[in-house]
Order: sequence, then C-alpha cells, then structure tokens
Amino acid sequence: RFSTAAVLEEPITPPVQINYTQLLINGQFVDAASGKTFPTFDPRTGEEIAQIAEGEAEDVNRAVSAARKAFDEGPWPKMTPYERSRILLRFADLVEKHSNELAALETWNNGKPYEQAAKSELPLFVRLFHYYAGWADKIHGLTVPADGPYHVQTLHEPIGVAGQIIPWNFPLVMFAWKVGPALACGNTIVLKTAEQTPLTALYVAKLFHEAGLPPGVLNIVSGFGPTAGASLASHMDVDKLAFTGSTDTGKIVLELAAKSNLKPVTLELGGKSPFIVCEDADIDKAVELAHFALFFNQGQCCCAGSRTFVHERIYDEFLEKSKARAMKRIVGDPFKKGVEQGPQIDSEQFEKVLRYIRAGRESSATLECGGDRLGSKGYYIQPTVFSNVQDDMLIAKDEIFGPVQSILKYKDLDEVIHRANATRYGLAAGVFTKNVNTANTLSRALRVGTVWVNCFDVFDAGIPFGGYKMSGIGREKGIYSLNNYLQVKAVVTPLKNPAW
Ligand code: NAD
Repeated sequence: RFSTAAVLEEPITPPVQINYTQLLINGQFVDAASGKTFPTFDPRTGEEIAQIAEGEAEDVNRAVSAARKAFDEGPWPKMTPYERSRILLRFADLVEKHSNELAALETWNNGKPYEQAAKSELPLFVRLFHYYAGWADKIHGLTVPADGPYHVQTLHEPIGVAGQIIPWNFPLVMFAWKVGPALACGNTIVLKTAEQTPLTALYVAKLFHEAGLPPGVLNIVSGFGPTAGASLASHMDVDKLAFTGSTDTGKIVLELAAKSNLKPVTLELGGKSPFIVCEDADIDKAVELAHFALFFNQGQCCCAGSRTFVHERIYDEFLEKSKARAMKRIVGDPFKKGVEQGPQIDSEQFEKVLRYIRAGRESSATLECGGDRLGSKGYYIQPTVFSNVQDDMLIAKDEIFGPVQSILKYKDLDEVIHRANATRYGLAAGVFTKNVNTANTLSRALRVGTVWVNCFDVFDAGIPFGGYKMSGIGREKGIYSLNNYLQVKAVVTPLKNPAW
C-alpha cells in the first residue's frame, strides 16, 4: 500500500518567511512597470503562497539596459578575474550559511522533499559556485604558430549580456548551472525564472549583492514565458541566450533568437532516457537504481530513466520487485522526514501526468500499481508502474515528467541499442551490467549526452551535461560550459624581426 498518511494530514508549516517578491533590476528590488503581480502556489495544497511582481517586455528592457551598462562600463568585466572569483566564493559561503531557509523555500515552492533540497541540492549549488570561482582566473587564450612573420594570439573575452531562462524542476540548481559560468567568464545577466518557482532565485540574488556583486551584473525578472521569456529571447541587446525547458519551447526561443539579432543559443531540453538492465545484473540493485532513475524529484527530471529496458531472462523477477519497490515508496508532505516523493509542481503538470496514465491504461500495457492521484488536496500522484510497454505506445514515446515507470522487455544487445536510440531525444541513458565489454559497447552505441554505468543522476560540477538530437544544443557544467559564455578574438601582429 502507498503511504498516504502524510498526504491527508495538515501541511507542515514551512520554517521560512518570504521576504523577496519584486523584480531585481540594477541591484534594487522594484515593482513591475505595469504594477502587475501573479500568484505563486504551494503544490502540497494548491493554495497561494505570495504575489510576485510580474515582469513583461518593459521590465526586460530595463533589466537588459542595466546589464548592458554593467557590462560596457564595468566594473565587472574589467575586474581582475581573481576579484570576480572572490565574490563568487563569498556568495557560495553566504548560500551555505542560509541553506536551511533556502531548502525550505525550494520545498515550499516546488514540492520536492526537504531532505533532498537540503542535503543534496543546496550542497551541489555551493559546490557549483566553488567550481566556477575556481575557473574565473584560469580562462586564457593561446599563442598560435603562424605561416608568415606574425605573432598570433587568441583572447577569450566575455560575450556580453547573457539572457537565461530556467525551468521549475530544479530552480536553484538550474540557476547555478547558468549563472556560475556566465559570471566566471565576466558576463552580465538577465535571468528569467519559471513562473511556478520564482522565490529562491530572488533570495540568492539578494545574497549575491551582499557578497559584493556590483549592481546590474545579475538581474532577475520573474514572469511568464510568452511575455517576459519571449522578450528576452528576441531582445536586440542580449548577446547570448541559454534556455532550459521543453523541446517545444526550445524551438520557439531558437527562432526568436534567429529572427532578432542571431544571438547564439544553448538549449537543454527534454528526454526519454533508456535505462538498460542487462541479463547479468544484480537484480535487487538494478531495481533500486531503475526506481531512483525514474521516480527521483517526482519523476520531474529531464534525464529521468523513463524507458526501463529489461532483459527477457530476468524480466519477471525484475518486474515483481519493481512493483513492490514502487508500492513502498513514501509519498507525503515533503517537509516530513523520510518522505521520498512530494506533490507534482502544479495542476497543469498533475493533469498532464494523469492523462498519460489514462493513455497507458487504454493501451495494451499492464498497470501494475498506482495509476491515480493520492489524497484529495494538492498534486500528489501514486507511484505508477506499467509493464508490457511497447515502443510505439504514447507512454514509451512522450516525456511524461511524472512518477510513471514504463518497463519494456528485450532479447539481445543489438535490439536494445536500436530501440533505445529510436527516439527523437538523446539526453541520457543508464546501463546496468557487470560486464565491462557490455558497458563499453552500450556507452559507445547510445546516441546520448550522458551514459551512467551502474549509477544514475551523478551531477558533479565538472561533468558536462546536454543532449544529442532534440534534447538540446551545447553542454552545461564542466569546462565545456565556459565556451558558451566566451568570444574568441584572434590578434595578429607583424613581427619586426622574424628571425627571432
Ligand atoms: P517550458 O518550456 O514550458 O518552460 C521553461 C521555461 O521557458 C520557463 O521559464 C518558461 O516560462 C519559459 N517559456 C515558456 N514559453 C516561452 C516562450 N514562448 N518564450 C520564452 N520562454 C518561454 O518547460 P517547463 O514546463 O517549465 O519544464 C518542463 C520541461 O523542461 C520538460 O520537458 C523537461 O524535460 C525540460 N527540462 C530540461 C532540462 C535539461 O537540462 N535538459 C532540465 C529541466 C527541464
């Protein structure tokens, strides 16, 4: 039986207050030019938490002007890299100091388990800023041997004003992936948060200014996609755009960027990642990892292992154990200790996931457990497992973004490689085997940006992340992310005395 008790109880009062609800432009909290606000909700109840200033085109203009001025006139891009690095480090320390409040705010606004936010996402956030602070003074060009009498060097310069649009599933972690490299390279930023989760970015942006970030370097515009987001993507004075979200919206922002000033765009988009369990796998461990790969963060992960391919020889045992594991999953108030799964983010996602479950039920797949909402309030969904899933079913093709595991049977390696790759996505894959040759074959054959072998969702700061095919363009994190925020300038000077 699913643990429903916590869902039915009164929600726990979050141990944090909301202090920042306005836009942050040029180092100041300000109202939207229109004076408009929009509500942000608690996914545990669907009730309003606060009213947030609603940024639109005019606010984006103000924020871009502030970022432009901060870039053109400095001091940020003209500071020594070491000075920038120290501000990033001071900021990381302040976040660490406030990490309990921030984790509470993240849970309140997003519904993710507090323990996950506090013990894993906040430490990762701090780690990411330490990592990027370390890069700030190690970004440099090359000297290039020339065919003629020239001294040739490259300068790696910040690109200018970066527009960044982030989603709601990991509000703080996505902030760090985008803001860390952009600032380390000396850019200035206008960041639009997801309309569902505006709270934590405003809080950390305030801490950034306490850490000594000059005004205008980081501007935060809360608001909606088709208004604030589209204005940012099509702005003539934004030099680079970084977007994370759905593939459909990725196409829209890419087009807006192309139709305006041809700003370069990096995209982190959706996925339908295979998790391949080989016949030699330790079944208990594979069940646990496949469960984690799908259900982590309420199933709301772009890289969720949402197609569990299991070898036919171990399929029946794997299925029974996966079902038992899903039924033991502790769902409830994310503030409660021990809870593994909170509510989905909002009514829209909740309805969408239930629609996919209905499609699964109407297909010839077998519903093994779950399949319904949990409780009558908020957006809780039962951990759901389908077996006998076929490749052409909707639940095997579309990104569900919820706690719905699809288990598929396969016979041999070539077949599973072919089927795993037969998708428009290519974000990540999981491989579970004891055989190093199988691991190597699958790792090379899968057309995805990340292969996790006998592990899943390992997100260290230095590991690049991004998609093949329609899962995106470019890589974030690691050394690769720096290129997104740098221009390379070649400087060629004649040599007066080529003999030397
Ligand atoms: P979404 O694409 O609707 O929204 C993402 C962001 O884009 C939000 O800030 C939103 O306001 C903004 N946006 C929406 N319409 C816009 C427009 N017309 N112009 C400019 N901006 C616009 O996606 P979502 O529902 O917030 O997130 C879920 C999706 O994001 C999933 O499909 C998931 O796979 C994907 N995602 C991908 C990654 C990754 O790293 N690849 C990470 C998280 C989420």
